[in-house]
Amino acid sequence: MYLMTNQELQALVEKVSLRDFHRPFLHRAQFNSRLLTTGGRYHLNDHHLDFNPHMAAELPLEEFVGIIKHELCHYHLAMQHLPYQHRTHEFKQLLLRVGGSRYAPRLASQTARYHYQCTRCHLDYYRQRQINVRRYGCGHCHGKLTLIAEEKARG
Ligand SMILES: [Zn+2]
Ligand SMILES: [Zn+2]
Repeated sequence: MYLMTNQELQALVEKVSLRDFHRPFLHRAQFNSRLLTTGGRYHLNDHHLDFNPHMAAELPLEEFVGIIKHELCHYHLAMQHLPYQHRTHEFKQLLLRVGGSRYAPRLASQTARYHYQCTRCHLDYYRQRQINVRRYGCGHCHGKLTLIAEEKARG
């Protein structure tokens, strides 16, 4: 999936909230690049949601929406002063009903052998196999790709 902006993220979270929870999302949603293995985070103090930009960029939209639903479960339960933590019955039931994801998916960036980056827009590409960078450019801006890191084969 391509890189979405904070504004597009906000609009998507509002849309999913109305469509699947039948309640409006009235706070702020934003990307936080410090999130690494978690997909998102709900902040009880000001009710804003953080999302992992690597997951938004790498996952199919449908899977990223699963992460949005997960965070919206925390949000809507807390807004109604209901138990909102993972272990609670309320959270599990709501997550099941809306089809939210239970765990953050593993990203290619955590398992792939090759890490390339676009020299123009700096989008990351993670691949099991080598890319011929003379033939293939960035799918987002057609810039030139460069190899950033190569993991030694495991095992
Ligand atoms: Zn959670
Ligand atoms: Zn690019």
